[in-house]
Amino acid sequence: MTVYYELPPFRPPTEAYSLLIRATRNCSWNRCEFCSMYKGSRLELRAVEEVKQDIITAKMIADEIMEWAWKIGYGDRVGMVARANGILWLNDGLVKNVFIGDSNSVIMKTEDFAQIISFLYQTFPHLERVTSYARAKTLVKKRPDELRTLREAGLSRLHVGLETGDDELLEYVKKGATAEEMIIGGRKAIAAGFELSEYVMPGLGGKERWEQHAGETARVLNEINPHFIRLRTLGLAPNTPLYEKNRQGEFTLQSLEGLLIEVRTLIQNLEVTSQLVASDFASNFYLPQVDGKLPDDKGRMLRALDNALEKAQSRARA
Ligand code: SF4
Repeated sequence: MTVYYELPPFRPPTEAYSLLIRATRNCSWNRCEFCSMYKGSRLELRAVEEVKQDIITAKMIADEIMEWAWKIGYGDRVGMVARANGILWLNDGLVKNVFIGDSNSVIMKTEDFAQIISFLYQTFPHLERVTSYARAKTLVKKRPDELRTLREAGLSRLHVGLETGDDELLEYVKKGATAEEMIIGGRKAIAAGFELSEYVMPGLGGKERWEQHAGETARVLNEINPHFIRLRTLGLAPNTPLYEKNRQGEFTLQSLEGLLIEVRTLIQNLEVTSQLVASDFASNFYLPQVDGKLPDDKGRMLRALDNALEKAQSRARA
């Protein structure tokens, strides 16, 4: 029997081993000039019953894998059997983490989204974490009681694309939210009890705006103090407006040396108690090990960046 359920095409790196469920399709905004993810597609809200059917299908798959594992004498190694069959989200026969896509599922009607989340917990009673992407602008628009409803239903972590805290740059890349809205949205999420992960994009200001990008981003993050700050360096995707601006000489890509100075400026100016994560994105390849807890690891992070910068400069001189 062929079983089928819809998967979100994108997920945060931390959700590699999570069950992926698709509650909405595409992006509610779709205008960020650096982003190619959902270009040409429009937002669709899936019917709650359709999403529930997907959850039931995922449960059937989990049950079948467990049954098969016992049949072949691997009952105590269900996770291994699941992985051998291309399923990464079933560890020891239990589903513990779920990511709900696509790019802004909190835009659904609160009752509908809460129903989906509650159904996940009914179906997989050992769930520990349910996460979703969320636009800051949508968090600003949601009432505090609506956010609490989602939190109480079991949505535990929100991944928000801050990218930059610089108003001029937010406008330039058409992010569709101001720095103030980023702060309000982030604070509302934390006040409602969510773990908050804010994504920052080194390089987004190019050579033209890197300094204000780093400084203002630190300022906004200081105001929010999210649980996680995640770096994902700009990778210029073809067919995006920013790519065209670069081709026309209006936007200049940062050098690797410039990126190191930019990230150093950002970290230097952070006054938060967040966990900083950079090692899980391939586009951060030029960074030394800067993952750690702020402020405790700030000195180590800055020293690592200074060493990397010194090496980059001596390579450039050689
Ligand atoms: S909100 Fe996110 S997914 Fe939508 S266009 Fe912007 S970066 Fe892309």
